[in-house]
Amino acid sequence: MLLSDLITNTEDHNKQTDSLTEYYVTIHNDRPLEMAIEIMDDHKVDQITLLDENDQFVGTLKKADINFYCSGLEENEKLQIFSDESSQCKAIEAKFRDAKATFNMLGIAFCEIVYVGEVQIIRWLNAEAMITFGVNIDDPISKMLTPEIWDDLMQIFHTHGGVEHERIEVNGRVYEVTLMEVELLGQRILKLFLYDVSELVRLSDELRRSLERTIEHIAHYDSLTDLPNRLLLVAKLDHGISHSKRMNGKVAILDLNIDHFKDINESYGYAVGDAIIVQVAGQLASILGREDILARIGGDEFIIVLEDLEDILKSEEAVKKVQALFANSFTVDGVDFKLSASIGLAIYPDDADNSEMLLKNADIALHRAKDEGGNNYCFFSSEMSVQLFERVLLERELRHGIDTSEFLVYYQPQISLATGKLTGAEALVRWKHPVMGIVPPDMFVPLCESTNLIIPIGEQILRDACTQVKLWKEQGLFEGRISVNVSGKQFERPDVVQMIKNIVTQTQLEPRYLELEMTESVLMGNPALFGRKLSELKMLGIEVAIDDFGTGYSSLSYLKQFPIDKLKIDQSFVGGIPHNEQDMAIIKAVIAMSQALGFRTIAEGIENEEQAEFLKNFGCEQGQGYLYSRPLSAEKFEEFLKALV
Ligand code: C2E
Ligand code: CA
Ligand code: CA
Repeated sequence: MLLSDLITNTEDHNKQTDSLTEYYVTIHNDRPLEMAIEIMDDHKVDQITLLDENDQFVGTLKKADINFYCSGLEENEKLQIFSDESSQCKAIEAKFRDAKATFNMLGIAFCEIVYVGEVQIIRWLNAEAMITFGVNIDDPISKMLTPEIWDDLMQIFHTHGGVEHERIEVNGRVYEVTLMEVELLGQRILKLFLYDVSELVRLSDELRRSLERTIEHIAHYDSLTDLPNRLLLVAKLDHGISHSKRMNGKVAILDLNIDHFKDINESYGYAVGDAIIVQVAGQLASILGREDILARIGGDEFIIVLEDLEDILKSEEAVKKVQALFANSFTVDGVDFKLSASIGLAIYPDDADNSEMLLKNADIALHRAKDEGGNNYCFFSSEMSVQLFERVLLERELRHGIDTSEFLVYYQPQISLATGKLTGAEALVRWKHPVMGIVPPDMFVPLCESTNLIIPIGEQILRDACTQVKLWKEQGLFEGRISVNVSGKQFERPDVVQMIKNIVTQTQLEPRYLELEMTESVLMGNPALFGRKLSELKMLGIEVAIDDFGTGYSSLSYLKQFPIDKLKIDQSFVGGIPHNEQDMAIIKAVIAMSQALGFRTIAEGIENEEQAEFLKNFGCEQGQGYLYSRPLSAEKFEEFLKALV
């Protein structure tokens, strides 16, 4: 049903609007239907004329039609359901606060123009003003406005060079005044506009009340599902908690989040996402008792409040019901969606004694459930908040560290196992914290990944490493490649190839001297897309190595479809030389297969000669590890390079 379907189009609308029973109104098509009806009620009319944003007539909306079509609809349905993209009413705009619309709505003349000459004699006025004020041309202005009002206006006029929107009262009606000086036929005269705003003043109260009712609803209920929002939830929860306090009962909060919901919005669009949210809301409501509260507090985040629990086990029963609900799929437009949810639980009074903390703790538990892979539930425990506190502190320090350039690049040499010559280096990030000193990446890279801070940090490391290596090359100190780690979060970015390209261009490092290290699991995240990105990098001449090889999917034949140059045997296998037969068998197999597929190989974590010897004997080309050197600061690495020449 479109708004346009409800509109009776009349060619002859000018004739209609001339009659006093006809009202102009502009309504945003996003307004609740009840508001259109309220406006009609307010003005004791049964239909309103609809105008578009250019005040062009669109048609007439009849109360009877709305009532007829909307009997099955919820009160707060939006006018929008009567309109769609193609509807001619798309442009209908809210102009409630716009005086013109209000005047239009009332169908009254709103403007009276008066010219006042030098001796305060009215030189010209329109017919409307003549009738309203009972004055004539050549009457003094004081016959129209009292001398006091006129004096006041003149004072404002002289101090401010004009009068704008001053309100005055004449004969019980309220006018808005604009007064300015103009030249007419070589004569200096004052031009006075008087807008009768009496109706507006009265009407705005009524309109304000009706708007307030709507705003009140919007403020407390989610517009998509009509469930209570966070504000109302907290109010209800406060109430529930004080009730349970008196009854010595418990309150359980279930913080529910749909897993990977973002993907649905991204792949199917927000309309489908919204439809699913509405279904989930409806089904959740159906499994809850009358006393329970269900609220929507974010995109795909719902809160269930179970009051007066005698037993915490009851909250687990609710979890089971929710899980059972998600065992079935949700259908939108004939497409089935198999979804799962994660739930975090917090209990009053065990986990907190106020709404805010309970919600916060349920949220912490929710994140734990998500971290454990989703489709899961988790009760809050106090250790969680300590861990979270540490995380929050660390994250703050990290952000600060980015602003103050605390991230440095260390360099670890890579060596040809056959000749012992330098073939390149790996760039490894270090955090030089003002208090903690040099912090190794294992302490902060995981948090950087989950907070996306790895994106700016990784970019900076890449830029710094390229700049530095370019310099060493110019000085004839460094011959090989620089290997830089790229995290999944970075590689996911649509602009990652461009970012790398820019850095290579800006630093003028020849692309063939740059190698990127990525783990298999990163590539498996989206093989088709990431394969294309790798090909683009390849075309620039940049090389790619698979880091930590052997710890992930390790499907060599699968890897073959990517344009890869090098495999990096993980240090855990190298550490197994010479005692762990299995590790050694894996190393031999990896080297052999890698050679067959045309990849180069490097082994990381080489700590002694025996390991180097073993790897060399089985055909591994390069090595990296403490045996040759620990990762070194730029200064130290420069000394290391100088010692080689
Ligand atoms: P990774 O890429 O596997 O880096 C190799 C790690 O092994 C480095 O640890 C290095 O110091 C260490 N290592 C090198 N030789 C030996 C050895 O002989 N014995 C032992 N036991 N360890 C050795 P580091 O520098 O602490 O880096 C740890 C991890 O942090 C890296 O593992 C990498 O996953 C990540 N990382 C480091 N820098 C960056 C970066 O710039 N960006 C990203 N995304 N991740 C980075
Ligand atoms: Ca690496
Ligand atoms: Ca590694």
